[in-house]
Amino acid sequence: MCEFCHKHGEGGKWYLRAENYSEDLLTDVRRRKFIERFMSEPERLQADLENLEKLDRAPALIRGVLVWALSNRQKRVHFGQVVPIEDLERILGFVNSVVRLPCICRKITLGKEKRYCYGLSISPGGGEFSRIIRGLEHNYLEGPDTSGFEALSKEETLHALREHEREGLCHTIWTFHTPFISGLCNCDRSDCIAMKATVTHEFPVMFRAEYVAKIDPEKCSGCRQCMKVCQFGAIAYSGAEKKSVVDARRCYGCGICRAACSKEAISLLDRASIPASARLW
Ligand code: SF4
Ligand code: SF4
Repeated sequence: MCEFCHKHGEGGKWYLRAENYSEDLLTDVRRRKFIERFMSEPERLQADLENLEKLDRAPALIRGVLVWALSNRQKRVHFGQVVPIEDLERILGFVNSVVRLPCICRKITLGKEKRYCYGLSISPGGGEFSRIIRGLEHNYLEGPDTSGFEALSKEETLHALREHEREGLCHTIWTFHTPFISGLCNCDRSDCIAMKATVTHEFPVMFRAEYVAKIDPEKCSGCRQCMKVCQFGAIAYSGAEKKSVVDARRCYGCGICRAACSKEAISLLDRASIPASARLW
């Protein structure tokens, strides 16, 4: 299990623990301020993106120290984890409301409103998290597609999440001052700053999933559809065998390849059961 499961999971997966979504955690003034600043100053993310480029140009030793220190800081304030759809279904089993809102990353990287983000709450109507955001002067919410927050039923949310999988997007959940969880995003490496940071720039701001994909060679037809959708370059193709195989060391366990496989050849296994990736987060 990941570091957060050990610290905040009470022996299980940390994101399946209802206490980590508790409204009580929002009585913390620092946490509220962080949410307000995060949501109302999207230009800070733009600066983060530019800083990643600068970090890449730093000497290796300095870069290593900075990445370690800054990544640890991120773990305290805003950190994510890849979560496959079956665990999102479990989360939807105990949260009491979901609101959909425009993605702040896409606003910065594409200049477009893309409603790929969701706020989860234990309380009805989006809870206190939504009330904080609604009270902001949030320029990133302005735009032709923006009609404010949409309240979604659990069924509608699940349907939308499956649609995002078909688009090749990877589900991630996010803390706002760890361990409080309220964000669910649908990411790709092209447009999401967190995924760019973690995968492209090797500056971790999210954990891999608690799972790793495996392809059953008996079922695999070698169509390579899974390779096209994997955001992490974790699938290789054997020309000799005419089969695809997962590189467990690269796999983030998102399950997007599974959704793309018409032969039902792909399953997710517990990361801990795969020695090559058990310690890779
Ligand atoms: S999508 Fe399925 S059948 Fe096609 S190569 Fe991948 S695992 Fe094999
Ligand atoms: S191989 Fe791993 S990382 Fe790639 S899509 Fe499948 S589950 Fe996700």
